[in-house]
Amino acid sequence: MKKYLKVTQDLMREFEQVEVIHIPRGFNEKADALSKLAAVAFDHLAKEVKVETLKQPSVTKVSVIQVGTHEDSWMTPLIDYLQEGKVPESKEEERKLRVKALQYEMVEGGLYRKSYLGPSLKCIDEGEVECVVRDIHEGICGMHMGAKMVVARALTAGYYCPAMFLTAVKEIHKCDHCQIHAPVGRKSKSSLYQ
Ligand SMILES: [Zn+2]
Repeated sequence: MKKYLKVTQDLMREFEQVEVIHIPRGFNEKADALSKLAAVAFDHLAKEVKVETLKQPSVTKVSVIQVGTHEDSWMTPLIDYLQEGKVPESKEEERKLRVKALQYEMVEGGLYRKSYLGPSLKCIDEGEVECVVRDIHEGICGMHMGAKMVVARALTAGYYCPAMFLTAVKEIHKCDHCQIHAPVGRKSKSSLYQ
């Protein structure tokens, strides 16, 4: 679904104006029926809904974020430790890393943060987290969510980076839309004199 969302978002950028309308399920029988096809037999639907089986997915672009770029990031010491048992020279740093590493695991060559409430979160580096928070902040409906909401959404989407909140704050600060529409508070006035 994420891939389809990405393609939709890319297409939407090509238009000057886009309106997203939520259609209640009762008025949307065809799409609703189609969404159930994966789970149920559809013989009884054949008369009402035309079914075409696609042999190839209609999304070809691979937009999966690759973990394991060779540039160093916050993940490097953890990956080195979990994969090769490498530890820092300082005993104190080594102890810290061993404790920290208990919260992480390697899955198919990627670093994941263990989560007790749901599936493990895919760890992303500082560059990747920028793209993720920007995408979420601007959102499919141009919602321009606040930093806390952006982080909550990113976690729900299965991403983790310790710098997530700070990056979201910075991205929002850079966002023209949010700067134009931000309320002017007393604080910003007084900061001129500090
Ligand atoms: Zn914004």
